[in-house]
This record gives sequence, C-alpha cells and structure tokens, in this order.
Amino acid sequence: MNLNPLFLNYIDGQWAASGSGQTFENRNPAEQNELLGYFQASTIEDARHAIESAERAFAGWRATPISKRAKVLNRAADYLEANLEAFAEELTREEGKLLGNSRDEVARSAQTLRFYAVEGQTITGETFPHDDAKMTVYTQREPLGVVSIITPWNFPISIPARKIAPALITGNTVVFKPSSDAPLIAYRLAEALHHAGIPEGVFNFITGSASNIGKELTAHSAIKAISFTGSTQAGEAIQGAASMSTRTQMELGGKNPLIVLADANLDQAVDLTIKGGFSLTGQACTGTSRVLIEKSVKTDYLERLVAKVKELKIGNGLVQSTSIGPLATRQQLDTVLSYIDIGKREATHIFGGEHLQGEGYDNGYFVSPAIFSDVTQQMRIAREEIFGPVIAIIEVDGYEDAIAKANDSIYGLSAAIATKNIEYIQRFPSDIQSGTVKINRTTTGNLVNAPFGGLKQSSTSTFRESGRVGLDFFTQTKTVYLGY
Ligand code: NAP
Repeated sequence: MNLNPLFLNYIDGQWAASGSGQTFENRNPAEQNELLGYFQASTIEDARHAIESAERAFAGWRATPISKRAKVLNRAADYLEANLEAFAEELTREEGKLLGNSRDEVARSAQTLRFYAVEGQTITGETFPHDDAKMTVYTQREPLGVVSIITPWNFPISIPARKIAPALITGNTVVFKPSSDAPLIAYRLAEALHHAGIPEGVFNFITGSASNIGKELTAHSAIKAISFTGSTQAGEAIQGAASMSTRTQMELGGKNPLIVLADANLDQAVDLTIKGGFSLTGQACTGTSRVLIEKSVKTDYLERLVAKVKELKIGNGLVQSTSIGPLATRQQLDTVLSYIDIGKREATHIFGGEHLQGEGYDNGYFVSPAIFSDVTQQMRIAREEIFGPVIAIIEVDGYEDAIAKANDSIYGLSAAIATKNIEYIQRFPSDIQSGTVKINRTTTGNLVNAPFGGLKQSSTSTFRESGRVGLDFFTQTKTVYLGY
C-alpha cells in the first residue's frame, strides 16, 4: 500500500507522474484541514499515452485465456478484502460517507470483481438451424477494444468496479478516469489490479480535471466505447463529443419518488423516507427526493417523520454514533444550500436545512436534513436533481394521481411505493416510468447480480450495467456461416 501522499497515474504498467508536473489536492469533507494526498493533474498527452498503451495491449489481452483474466480479477478482489478496513476508512475520509457504508462499498467492489470473474466465463453465442448439412451457423461474441471508464465521486469504487470488471473479463483494455473529488479509493482499485498482475497497458488509471482530459478520453479515435456515470449535463456533453461508431453507456441523474398510499404502514414509510432520502447524505443517484403522499395520512406521516429525523446525528462518518455524514464537496454544499433557499421561498419549510456550525462542524460541509411540504409539480425542488438531504413532500389524491405526478419528470432512475393494496402492487411496475422499481423497499440499493439503469434522461437506455447483462455492453456479436 502506498502511504506516500503523492499519488501517481498508472499507465502502461508503470506508476508515473503527469507531464504537467502539476498535482491537485484531495481533502476530507468532514475535516478540511486533513489532506489525503496530491493527485496528478494530467494533460492531454498523458491521456493519449494511456489510450495508446491500452491500444497496444489489446491484442495480447484478448488472446489471454479467460481463466487467466478471471484470476487477475479474483486476485484484485483478494487485495481489496485483505485491506478492507484501511480502505473503508480512507473512503470515509475522502467522501464523507459512514464507515459502515464504506465497508459495504469496498466489500461489494470485491464481490463485483468475483462475480464477473465467474459470469464472464459463461458467455455464450447461439446456433441456428438451416438446410445445408455441411454448414454450421452461429454467433460469437468479441471484445470491443479500448474502453473509457469515467465515474463520479459518490460511489467512487463500486461504480468503477462494476464497469471495469466486465470490460476486462471480456478482453477489452481500459482507460479509467475517476472523479477529481474522490480519486484515492479509485487509486486503491488500480493498486489492486496492479498487485493482481494485470499485464502492462491492459488497465490504465489517470487522474485530472475533465476540462483538461475529458475530451481526449471520449473523442480519441481508438476509444471504442465509453461507460460513464455522472450528471445528465456531463453525459449529454460526452454523448455529443463521441464519434458515431463509439458505443456509449450513460448512467445519469435522478429525481426519485416514493409513493406513500393511505393504507401503508406509516412507520415503515417513514423509515423508507429516511433511509432512501437521508442515508449517504442524500448523495445516491437512487436517493429518494420526492415523497408523494395521500392527503388523508399526510399530517400523521409528517409528525412521525419529523420526530424521527430530529433524532438523527450529523457528524463525521468515522464516529460510530453518526447517522448522516457531510456533503462530499464544497460545490455540493453550495448547491444544496441554494436549493434549501429556493425551497424556503417556494414551499412550506418543515424542518432542517441548516448549515451546521460549531465544534465538529466548522471545518466540514455539514447540513441538517431538510423537509419541505406543500410542494407542487412546478416547483424547482420538485423537478431538479439536488443530490443532497432534501425531501419534497407532495400531496396526492390517490394512486392514479401519484403515478401521474411521479411520472411528470425528465428522470426515471428509481421509484418506490409503500402500500398493502395488491392491485396497486401489481400495477406499479408497469405504470411507473423508472428503470428500478421498489415495492415496500427504499429507492436506494441494487444488487451486484441484477441489471441496473434508468429510463428517460436518467440513462442512454442502450445497455444496462450490473448483473449478467452488464457484459453485453463490452462485447459485440458476429454471425458466422461455417461450411466445408
Ligand atoms: P459529474 O460532474 O457529471 O462528473 C462525473 C465524472 O465525469 C467525473 O469523473 C468528471 O470529472 C467527469 N466529467 C465531467 N464532465 C465531463 C466531460 N465533458 N467529459 C469527460 N468527463 C467528464 O458528476 P458528479 O458530480 O461526479 O456525480 C454526481 C452525479 O452523478 C449526479 O447527477 C448523480 O445522479 C449521478 N450519478 C448517477 C448514477 C447512476 O447510476 N445513474 C450513479 C451515481 C451518480 P471531474 O471530476 O474531473 O470533473
């Protein structure tokens, strides 16, 4: 493990400084005085070097037996698991999430590497019946070439893992750029692959601002595919810059609704709201940001919700008793506070939304969870992604009204309903415009072995990631007519 605060790029099997000679800082969002390290402020030339090394390595990696490729992923998983406690602590220091969430994320990343090590070995083609006895017709699947992986700061190791593992097991080579706001745990993933013996050039890790290297990593002619997770705005820019023949997979923003019907268990609905909306400080792409509640139970629900939210402890994610950590960046803090101001002007402010000051808070980005009521469809807090601990409560007349309002959004990432009504339980998955559908469960959370992705502007709706179908994006199909 590198304990030096200077962190390098990993290009062509070498740890190397950027040609710029410049670095950028990575600091703890709970305690800004704590410097976690300096990372390379890479240049276009560095990016080009990484892409070209991946291009050179492609033929050899593609020809490497799949059992050997799987071994690399399994060894990288071993490395993450052996260092789980240390890496989880680093993740909390870097991103702010609770230590328990960090442990889960590092463990899940190892699980993802192992999942694709096995699942990638079960890829099949099809054979087709026909009239010529001396011919076999079948499909075979092949890797694409160099793929660009670009990821956000909120799940800074598990999202990269769920893209990099299927890319590598299927024989592609990778250039990976993590978020500039959480490069340390991404560096640990690069370190894990290096320790696992990944051949030179097969996997490349490069840090630096998207404004400097983003274009090269998405528009270079050798890039055959881009798997991106981040904001809808950045996704649109990347999609626009990519060439026609570059395959893209974009997982983008959300404005995820939880519908609470009058027959729901209200205590459970409150728990779903708090877990979905405030855990991870509201910084999950699948986080609950709208609650559509039936009029008749609204007052009762709100009383129970506020009583429980008052008990939440906001603080450093390393402290055991903390229930909500800081926002991850200064920019997130400013954005969330500005939406809280907007909410106070637009709707009824019920609770929270303070920028916390005082001991334990002064050097971090802490905001108390905010609840707004009497929110209507036109309000900005009902329509725009905030990506923080802010919940908009919208009153509805019943199931049909709730569905209409939930679907009145440009996003369609995750949606949940709390009800015991069997008709609505049965109808909800078809009626809701959302890639992930939850019934009596939180909008957040998805399995390693199940597909994940959004509808509408939450995704390019091309290829799903995660699970077995996560392999599809990284392979292309050929149809072979073999005669003799
Ligand atoms: P972001 O600002 O879009 O950045 C994401 C990544 O893209 C970063 O590595 C960023 O680099 C890079 N990037 C930005 N513009 C680029 C461009 N034009 N070309 C190439 N790369 C570019 O998003 P974020 O603030 O990190 O993450 C929060 C967003 O991610 C939210 O909108 C959230 O909903 C979304 N998200 C979606 C999912 C999902 O699965 N649907 C999951 C998690 C998060 P720099 O860091 O250097 O700017």
